[in-house]
Amino acid sequence: ISSLKGQNVLITGASSGFGWYSALNFAKYDSNLILFARRMERLEKLKEEIRILYPTISVRIYKVDVSNKQSIEEAFKQVNTDIKRIDILVNNAGLSQGSDPLRTISEESIDIMINTNVKGLVWVTQLVLPGMLQRNSGHIINVGSIAGLNTAPVLSVYGATKHAVHALSESLRIETVSSNIKVSEICPGLAETEFGGVCFNGDEEKEDQIYGNMELLTGQDVADMILFIASRHPRCVISQAVILPVSQANTFVVHRQ
Ligand code: NDP
Repeated sequence: ISSLKGQNVLITGASSGFGWYSALNFAKYDSNLILFARRMERLEKLKEEIRILYPTISVRIYKVDVSNKQSIEEAFKQVNTDIKRIDILVNNAGLSQGSDPLRTISEESIDIMINTNVKGLVWVTQLVLPGMLQRNSGHIINVGSIAGLNTAPVLSVYGATKHAVHALSESLRIETVSSNIKVSEICPGLAETEFGGVCFNGDEEKEDQIYGNMELLTGQDVADMILFIASRHPRCVISQAVILPVSQANTFVVHRQ
């Protein structure tokens, strides 16, 4: 995919799952990488893996907590001195917290999900977009979820944050329609990453109720879709892509063996 060669790609949440595999995918096609996450040791590991596999690729890693505006702003001071431009932004960092119903979900869980999945995405976008507008080019790929298109019991606030990602993607596409900037939303279904472990804080029994007895998407499946979205001709944008395991019909309807 020659169009990705030399492109500077910023991926949030690159220390695991979709972000990790996306970093490897973009490196394979000669893009340079700017990687954000809180776990620096993971980013160091990924950087080393990429150095061995694709030694010519530039990989810059930054410790960023996207739920904290100050952390993002500090990182961007460094990013802006290190790199001239960001061509592709993959807003991927995100998480869910437990499966409590709306009536009992804690203030803390609500804040963590909204600050990370919604505000974090907005803050990072606000720092990348001006440069894209100035150059009249760029691509923002937001990782939403099938839970952003329909919902299920127990998803309450997580579903709301992903509905917000959907609305933000639509709004931004309208805002930028007179430019060459592309805005895409990818909506994956159930996937095997660290997401379930984070959501249920390591409680395997609870995780198994949601993720067990079915063949899940892999991180690679989703990263391949992100790569496909990022590599289309400048004249076209994949505005929204939904990718599900074959035994999932929507957020709620899942066939388990
Ligand atoms: P993982 O848990 O494997 O990866 C999540 C990534 O987000 C990690 O790199 C983590 O890095 C990062 N992250 C979380 N919170 C923060 C934060 N405050 N600041 C910076 N980075 C953060 O999950 P996935 O790869 O599955 O998730 C990626 C995206 O896909 C999320 O937005 C998720 O909502 C979405 N999604 C996942 C699905 C699934 O079933 N797995 C289905 C549909 C959508 P670190 O902890 O090092 O900061």
